[in-house]
Amino acid sequence: MYRMLHERYPYAHCELDFDTPLQLLVATVLSAQTTDVTVNKVTPLLFSRWPTAADLAAAERTEMEEVLRPTGFFRAKTASVLALGAAIVERHEGEVPPRLADLVKLPGVGRKTANVVLGNAFGVPGITVDTHFGRLARRMGWTDEEDPVKVEHAVGELFPRKDWTMLSHVLIFHGRRTCHARRPACGACPVARLCPSYGVGETDPDKAAKLLRYELAPGGQAATR
Ligand code: SF4
Repeated sequence: MYRMLHERYPYAHCELDFDTPLQLLVATVLSAQTTDVTVNKVTPLLFSRWPTAADLAAAERTEMEEVLRPTGFFRAKTASVLALGAAIVERHEGEVPPRLADLVKLPGVGRKTANVVLGNAFGVPGITVDTHFGRLARRMGWTDEEDPVKVEHAVGELFPRKDWTMLSHVLIFHGRRTCHARRPACGACPVARLCPSYGVGETDPDKAAKLLRYELAPGGQAATR
């Protein structure tokens, strides 16, 4: 199933724009309760105004709130980014640490965020169990676990470490484009014949094709997000 999904989404990648581990860490924190597309609209201004962890820590709160407003929950997110910048300066001399144990001790950083940063900014294999990953792993019969950490461990045992980061991208792409929470496009799914949940969504191929999103949507561009 992973091979088939990888063939469908060979271009799967982290959909947050970033150049440095700090930028990815902050963007991932901002992505809570919103889309990566929305985050990508605010981060260029955010990172040009406050390029370093020290800059973020010293930012004027109301000014940052205005920049982050489009992402929703902008007051709480501003507080998180200020605290994150301060903690990175105090504990890690301004550099994002490349270890899970250190990352998860930073304010507002859980395992999911830490694995995104490790996998995509440091090249350390990591499984990112977000809402899409968990739902798909259960639908495809890879695990019954609901708890994200248990899902991470259960799925991790099924795949070689080297595949963990790409596996995460591919499942998240599939969840965003085809295997939606409410109306999965089963009739347009490359793993339909192997999936024990085939039929939870639309099975008619024409109707299912209309449910596909982003570059797979009818008339969608050959873009990668
Ligand atoms: S067959 Fe349906 S439930 Fe299974 S992975 Fe495909 S879209 Fe999701």
